[in-house]
Amino acid sequence: MKILVINAGSSSLKFQLIDMDDESVKAKGLVERIGIEGTHFKQTVTEGNKVIEFTRNMADHTEAISAVLAALTDKENGAIASLDEIGACGHRVLHGGETFKASALVTDESMKEIEALVPLGPLHQRPNIAGIRACQEVMPGKPNVAVFDTAFHQTMPPKAYLYGVPYEYYTNLKVRRYGFHGTSHRFIAGEVPKYLGKKPEDCKFIICHLGNGSSLSAIVGGKVVDTSMGLTPLEGILMGTRSGDVDPAVLEYIMDNTGMDIHEMLNTLNKKSGFAGLSCSSDMRDVKAAAAKGDAQAKAALEVWTYRLQKYIGAYNVAVGGADAIVFTAGIGENDVDACADVISGLGFMGVKIDPAKNKRGVAGIISTDDSTIKVLRIPTNEELPIARDTLEIVSKL
Ligand code: ADP
Repeated sequence: MKILVINAGSSSLKFQLIDMDDESVKAKGLVERIGIEGTHFKQTVTEGNKVIEFTRNMADHTEAISAVLAALTDKENGAIASLDEIGACGHRVLHGGETFKASALVTDESMKEIEALVPLGPLHQRPNIAGIRACQEVMPGKPNVAVFDTAFHQTMPPKAYLYGVPYEYYTNLKVRRYGFHGTSHRFIAGEVPKYLGKKPEDCKFIICHLGNGSSLSAIVGGKVVDTSMGLTPLEGILMGTRSGDVDPAVLEYIMDNTGMDIHEMLNTLNKKSGFAGLSCSSDMRDVKAAAAKGDAQAKAALEVWTYRLQKYIGAYNVAVGGADAIVFTAGIGENDVDACADVISGLGFMGVKIDPAKNKRGVAGIISTDDSTIKVLRIPTNEELPIARDTLEIVSKL
């Protein structure tokens, strides 16, 4: 069966067509600037590296999905002969709240629950819903499955997910830590035991998903015991454009002194902070290049990023009760071998050591020395495959 994986953002839509017979990617693509002048579409079909690329205004996600399906079935440069070959669609959905502890078939009932969670993450949840609705409209009768970014983290105990605020905010408003990047953390958590040569239930490790958005998770016996993102993806380590942890009182102080309202303030913390706020760019490569030329702000930003990551790893070593492994993944974790080495160099007192000969870009495996007290691994993540696997599993039971 082939599964169409959809990751719908506010003005973009990423997609992959995965053949579940061998879990190979048949085609993938990206639609950008949906609802904005100059919508851009690009699809690459794996076999023959065939590309369809064009710019044509698309008003909404329904138009974008229609374009995806037209491209997938394009006679010359498509990937499939007809839409009948698509067995189901799997959708990345930001927030499952406490309602969804696993992926769910989209039904009228589950859609109501997904919609009820919009207030917890309106910026992502609304477009995620629009993506599902678009598939329902354009491919009526085709099953849709929702795969939640938060679901894998639902195993956290209350001591990890409760904030120190009046308890009624948890009971009445469901204010708590949820955590995100769940599909990536789950994929990596499934891979690590293979490298450690241990059963998943015997492993304790820390996953560092370091992309534009970044989060850590502490895993014991295959289950999350803590994670760095919170009610929203704003909490945790320094990110491309997000501040990560700040003293909440900073908000009032800045707002009083600038006249910003709470929405502008949060927009600043989400979109104009992190690397972008402290230095010249949200992109690690640009920050590194600027630091190499002597830019003091870029150097400071890198130091903040590294130091905070080291502190979180130290804390999560406590959370798991002594880690077997520290794992790097996502854009920075998979590619920036020097940044990973810098992070680990601060943990030398714990006996953790990177082996420079093994610390290679994009290669999966152990990158620490044989005598390192904690193994360090680099494993490329895959955020689409877990969505496709869950979708297959759910629709196979229909
Ligand atoms: P997203 O959260 O958007 O999925 P990615 O996982 O693609 O992000 O990661 C993007 C980050 O990875 C950027 O900060 C980028 O600079 C960084 N990155 C990608 N390739 C490299 C590289 N070769 N060296 C350093 N950083 C890299």
